[in-house]
Amino acid sequence: MSGKRKLQVEMCVGALLLSASLPLAAQVSSSQATHPTSQSAGAPTSQSPAVAISSPSPIGDTTALAKEAQGWLIDMVRTNTTNPPGSEQSIAKYLAHILEKEGIQSEMLDLSPGRSALVARLKSSAVADPSKALLLVAHMDVVGVDRSKWTVDPFAAMIKDGYLYGRGSVDDKGMLAANLAAFIALKRSNARLNRDVIFLATADEEQGGDASIRMLISKYWDKFAAGYALNEGGEVFMKNGRVQYVAVQASEKVAMNVMVVARGTSGHASRPTKDNAVVHLAAAVAKIGGYSAPAHFTTIVRRYFEQLAAIEPDELGKWMRVLDSEDRGEHAQKVVSEASPLWSSMMRDTVAPTMLSAGVRNNVIPAEARANLNIRMLPGDTIDVLLSALTKLVNDPQIKFELQPDAGLAAPPSSLESDFYATISRVAAAQYGNVPVLPFQSTGATDSAQLRLHNVQAYGLVPFPLTEEDYLRVHGDDERLPIASFTKGVDVLARIVAEFAASK
Ligand SMILES: [Zn+2]
Repeated sequence: MSGKRKLQVEMCVGALLLSASLPLAAQVSSSQATHPTSQSAGAPTSQSPAVAISSPSPIGDTTALAKEAQGWLIDMVRTNTTNPPGSEQSIAKYLAHILEKEGIQSEMLDLSPGRSALVARLKSSAVADPSKALLLVAHMDVVGVDRSKWTVDPFAAMIKDGYLYGRGSVDDKGMLAANLAAFIALKRSNARLNRDVIFLATADEEQGGDASIRMLISKYWDKFAAGYALNEGGEVFMKNGRVQYVAVQASEKVAMNVMVVARGTSGHASRPTKDNAVVHLAAAVAKIGGYSAPAHFTTIVRRYFEQLAAIEPDELGKWMRVLDSEDRGEHAQKVVSEASPLWSSMMRDTVAPTMLSAGVRNNVIPAEARANLNIRMLPGDTIDVLLSALTKLVNDPQIKFELQPDAGLAAPPSSLESDFYATISRVAAAQYGNVPVLPFQSTGATDSAQLRLHNVQAYGLVPFPLTEEDYLRVHGDDERLPIASFTKGVDVLARIVAEFAASK
């Protein structure tokens, strides 16, 4: 895989530890129970129907639906869509078939041979109002695996100890199955809709290439234009069997790559020179590796830390409250950054050297040596400012920085005041046991940036309660999804969608 394409997208992984709420087991069976009515004396006994407890949501008990969705997830994990080449069309066809059985027409949006997205729509009225529509989006492709490091077949979708193992079980086929379930639940409910709900399965998210959402938007925007979207990127963070908080992604950092190029005089290795490009590159990379960009705070990140402070242990919470203060800010930033690489990256531009190349023979001093820097900018920051800081830091005329052409685009954040954000927050807080719901700016990139650039209020929420250990397996080895978390996530997602799109 070429280094320059690797940056585009990954789910935010890693998050941190906090306090307490309901155990997951207690939260999992949240769907409405049904129970028989008591019968009065003399009433006909044999035909008295069981009556469901009335619910404000048109979504009833989702237990059977989640089981069905688990079957879809298993089928999709077994369909290998490792990108490259992706071959997402196989899953698009599978999804079309399931939708067809529900009486829902879908449309294949072809991008390149073997690669298609799939779109389907539940209409609210004869004339669509895209500005009100809700888009449920998830990607069908997955990142590759190092089979030697997996303890199970990554494409067998094996269930073991309450987990479903497999590449894509979390990122992002779990969400894809949950989106489909929420979409189908709404159709089956026959609820009257106050807005169109659109199901979209995308391709090429992991590489952001010619079959990605960027292409999809440029070719087919009218097919799924929407005012709101729900996508991956946020999380339901679980520790010690309890959901600690829900993070709803409303913004993301911007990925780009910069090549550090050292040039010197080539020559015979038996006669070393002072301008050896390898030596100069190594010195530059060492300096860059120790660099920490100044912290500053977007509205979302400020609100994230303020709310997290309330549930963090006293000492850390105390520092989170003063991150932005004049006198104690600097020390607070240090304490919080040291507690977590994620938190450090949320408050500043980051630079990670990721690839090195130099030399053609072991006895030749090369004329050139290169290092790739993978950079994640805060939205609103400019790369020029960062590069001039690095140039000053390196302070070596033999070193040049070259911005690569694959830079992501900064998108405006989604609003924290929108009615959809309010719905997600309200339903999620209630469904996961009155936990805090925080706005989140992810350090990794998702398809949502492209949607936000088209005026979509896009939010990220992978609705499955996951532990830090589970998150670390995403894009790694033995990726797995707890079945109980999937069941819970299907239920919550269906309720969020119905709450927002069904007329009361
Ligand atoms: Zn993903």
